[in-house]
This record gives sequence, C-alpha cells and structure tokens, in this order.
Amino acid sequence: MVNSTAEEIFDPSVKGAALKAAAAGNFDVLPMFDRAMETSSRERIRAIQLEKLIAQVAYTYENVAWYRDKMNEMGVRPEDIKTLEDVRKLPFTDKNALRETFPYGLFAQPLDKIVEMHSSSGTTGKPIVVGYTKHDMAVWSDCIARLASMAGVVPGDRVQMAFGYGMFTGGFGLHYGCMKLGCTMIPAGSGNTERHIQMIEDYGTTVIIATPTYALHICEVGEKMGYDWAKSTLRVGLFGGEPCPPALKAEIESRMHIVCTDNYGLTEVMGPGVSGECLAERDMQHIAEDHFLWEIVDPATGEPVPEGEMGELVLTPLDKEGIPVLRYRTHDLTRVVTEKCSCGRTHARMQKVRSRCDDMLIIRGTNVFPSQVEDVLAGIEGVTPHYLIVVDNETGLDRMTVNVELKPEAFSDSFEVMDNFRQMVAEKLKGTLLVGVKVKLVEPGGIERSVGKTKHVRDLRK
Ligand SMILES: [Zn+2]
Repeated sequence: MVNSTAEEIFDPSVKGAALKAAAAGNFDVLPMFDRAMETSSRERIRAIQLEKLIAQVAYTYENVAWYRDKMNEMGVRPEDIKTLEDVRKLPFTDKNALRETFPYGLFAQPLDKIVEMHSSSGTTGKPIVVGYTKHDMAVWSDCIARLASMAGVVPGDRVQMAFGYGMFTGGFGLHYGCMKLGCTMIPAGSGNTERHIQMIEDYGTTVIIATPTYALHICEVGEKMGYDWAKSTLRVGLFGGEPCPPALKAEIESRMHIVCTDNYGLTEVMGPGVSGECLAERDMQHIAEDHFLWEIVDPATGEPVPEGEMGELVLTPLDKEGIPVLRYRTHDLTRVVTEKCSCGRTHARMQKVRSRCDDMLIIRGTNVFPSQVEDVLAGIEGVTPHYLIVVDNETGLDRMTVNVELKPEAFSDSFEVMDNFRQMVAEKLKGTLLVGVKVKLVEPGGIERSVGKTKHVRDLRK
C-alpha cells in the first residue's frame, strides 16, 4: 500500500501526495478545512439546519416584501415552520423572480450594508444581480475554502487564477476562499495562455483555477512550448464555470500530472461552493449542508421524490443576509445520498449534474433523459457517440426511436448480424430507461454533425 505522510500532504511542493493517500484509503491524514463541522453527526447537521431555517424564514418575511406577499397569498406564516419538512409549505423561487425584481427588489438589506455585488448574464432578458453583506462573504469564503481543501489544497499553496475577475461569481469567489484557506493568490485573470505558463514556471504555481476546457488549452500550449508538465510545480486544478465530463478530467489529469476537482454552485443562491468533490468518490460532491437546505423534487409536480432518487435540485440558503432566497429551483437534475463518505465527511453528497430538467422527455409517463441514452451507448462497443432521439405519437402512443451510429468496424452486410446488434442495443436501452424504445442503426457518418450545440432530440409529438 502506497502511503503519504502528513508532512508530505501539507507540503505544497510535493506533488500527488493527497491522491496517493486517497488511493490507499488513508483519508484521516488529508486536509479538511472545518473538520468539526464537516464530520458532524447527521442529527447535529439537521438540528443546525432547522434552527437556521426558522430564523431565515422569519428574516426573509420581515425584510423582503416579495416573499411576504407570496407567503401571505399562500396563507403561510414564519411560525408555521417547525420542522425541516415544513420547508415545503414555502413558495418556490425561480430565475424570473430575480429578473422581475431587478435590480434590488429581493435585497433584504440597504445598499450600505452590501459590500459586493455580482451578476450573471442571462442569455435572454435582464441579468440577475446579487448582493453580499460582510457575513455573506464570510460564508462564501468558508464554502470555497472547504472545497479547495477537499482537493488537497493546503495553506501555502500558490494559487493562480485563470478565471476572469468581474461580475461573474467564479473569479472573486474562488479568490477570497483560497485566501481564507491560507493560500497565496496569483490573480493572473483570463487569457494570454503563454503568460500563464510562464507565470507557473516563474512563481512556482501549485494550483490553477480554470474552466476545464481552458485548462486543457493551457496544457496543449505548454506541450507545444516544450514545457514539461511532469516536472512542473503545478499539482492541483480547481475547475468550474462549466460541466466537466469525466473523460476530459482524466485526460487533463494524466497530461498535466495534476489532480482536478470541480464544484457546483449558482449565482442565485451564492455562487460556486454550494458543493464540492472530495478525493474519495469523484462522481459526487459534498453539499455545505450547514449553509444550504436541499430538496430533490419531481420537476413536473414539485413534490419530493423518494430518498436517493433523481430529481430537480431545490436549494434554500440558510444564512443569507443580502438576498435571502427560499426554495430556489435550479432546474438541475441530480440525486443525493446521505451515508457517511469514506473521506470522513458526513455532509450529504449530490451526484454531479449532467442534465437539466429542460432536457427531460416524458415517454408514456416515464421520465427519460438524453444523458441516460448517452451513458448506455458509451458502454457499447462499435457505436459512435453520435445519436439522435426522435419522438412521435402518430399511432396515438408515444414512440421513441434512437438512431445509433455504427463505427465502420461494427458495420456488416449480414442482416442477421445487424439485427442481433440492434436488438442488443434496444434491450440495453430498455434496461436503463425502463421504457421500450425502437433502435435504428445508422451507417458510419450517417448522423448529421452540427457546428454549434448538438441537438440530440427531435420531438415531433403533436
Ligand atoms: Zn467525501
């Protein structure tokens, strides 16, 4: 069993020590920013959540007219919140609420108590703007310090920022949080890749913060410049700003000789840092449960789904002063498990978000996601990642056809071979989707490639 000493793990000049310890199952020696809180018993976490929820609802009712009106309309009073489940009595909030009240309609504090503002640029309509008090900034930094620590970042690490600063929450959020952890910040900002590599070399940078796509770009430019990533001081990548598919992360890790984690968050409830990936279970992210109450609901009905099942993530920040938000509908789909993680943390883990509710198809009453089809196809040899789902109801019943593109080596002239292959794919899909689908095999290159965002679904239902 390979092991690392605590000295090695807490020495930013040693590469790979945290990952080695994690691989050996030796989690006790890994850093944890707030060990007492992050390993609290479930009972204690729930007690903290309830106490904060009661206070947060009363605060929101008192200070935000929009919520007061909503709650009055629904006939619910702050004193009706007596258990965590009572959160369901409260109104949902969505992005529109923040847009309609732009810019300050949901602020619960006068502007002179707001120390920083951020916004997210909507693709349509007005942006949404959020304000943070000193307290909010402290909570935010705490959440970021935790997720950096989960990745093995320690005080003394030299952290180079490749996110842009500005209204976007990623740059400043990660900056303050890593500073709180005790790191040295190198605020390089976005762009100028060659300069980034030069700075890594000159300053002995040990951690890079970037989107995964940009990290891969830095990696490639470095390789072209003849920079030896294996010998580089760089050891950790903290990713965000976009989803990070596992294959992309694995490629960056092996080519740059670093360990990379990503985190989840959204501007409407705080910014990055709502949850973060630990080194034990890399498909999951620990939610900062002392600051956020999560619910998983059926996106169609808003009702809770059974524990551990997939649904829409709904978040209520529990101690937010600037903009308190109740039951924010993220439109992101995930599932949450509450068993203790082997890293020692007891805070619930959410599966990394792969799809949004807007992608969901309802086929004869069953919820189906394109990402499920993608996962099944990824596990079948001989098919390409290109596919197209067509849904129609010409016969009066929903019918889903999955067009699957074959690789040249899987293509055959024999009808029997092809038909057996088709049936095998159909059965695998049915096993996962729990609804029968028709499979159509398409010759290599037969599925149209798009220049922009690929459209995987054509819904022809009337
Ligand atoms: Zn963990």
